[in-house]
Amino acid sequence: MEPPVAAHVAEGLKAHEGPVSVIWHGGEPLSCGLKHFSSLHSPFAALGHVTHSVQTNATLINEAWCEFFKRHAFRVGISLDGPGDLNGNRVDKGGATTYHKVMEGIARLKQAGIEFHVIAVVDDRGLERARELYGFFAGLGCRSLGINIEEREGVNTARPPCDSHKVSGFWGELFDAWKANPVIKVREFRYALQWMSAVCREQEGLRGLTRDIFPTVAWNGDVVVLSPELNGAKSTRYGDFIVGNICSEPLDDILERAQAARYVRDFLSGVSRCEAECDYFSFCGGGQASNKFYELGETGGTETIFCRNTKKRLIDSVLRNL
Ligand code: SF4
Repeated sequence: MEPPVAAHVAEGLKAHEGPVSVIWHGGEPLSCGLKHFSSLHSPFAALGHVTHSVQTNATLINEAWCEFFKRHAFRVGISLDGPGDLNGNRVDKGGATTYHKVMEGIARLKQAGIEFHVIAVVDDRGLERARELYGFFAGLGCRSLGINIEEREGVNTARPPCDSHKVSGFWGELFDAWKANPVIKVREFRYALQWMSAVCREQEGLRGLTRDIFPTVAWNGDVVVLSPELNGAKSTRYGDFIVGNICSEPLDDILERAQAARYVRDFLSGVSRCEAECDYFSFCGGGQASNKFYELGETGGTETIFCRNTKKRLIDSVLRNL
């Protein structure tokens, strides 16, 4: 991304009153170098209502990056799938594991006193090692852990884990391990327990009942909505999913028009069917457009492997193991 593109994004956020979160994510955001990243960030510096997060593989983090994150109060998320071989899908250009570089980056964050959270992708191997995974992350010094069971999305065309016993067993074992030593937050358990608490108090579920259109701005200013993973997708039904370009139109105008995009309308009608048909709706809120598109070929579907793995089996396992 070139600085004028970022400047257009910042311009589009100026008029918004409420808090806005900008997430620098996709590819490896730090690979453009600190100098260039600073030039992308600088148009936002005067916007007091905008906070920043970055999702990184940590391999490039050094003292200068730590200083930058601290100065601008970045929330730092690390992509790390577990110890040793469980992180085997994360390799450098030459195919070598990045594990040791990731751990060095994490050590630098800790030295600088920067809190971080971790997002871990769990594939079939990790599903059998929930306790080991939890023990590793509990000892890592992260503030919280988010678990993404491997999904079929974008360039990842691998079939996601489908063995219901294995996935349920994973969530149950991870929950037990967390209960025995709750030194970090686990995103999925926090959501599940908050939802259960709301249900017990006869409130509406906490999540999903309002839908954020969630714009993603690509390197060249193209905008897609609902799911970042739709950036770069192609479909005979939906074309390229792009609803406008930030360099030629204000963000608000793009988002207004996006409501009428076919993939958005399809998605909302699928969410309505989810609400009518699914017992898990008040927890789930109707799933993600990207999972529906990549698994079902359209955004208007209902159940996916993703929602079975990360919503239904999660809730059932937590309830069984409370
Ligand atoms: S769990 Fe699946 S079927 Fe149920 S509301 Fe969510 S996406 Fe829809």
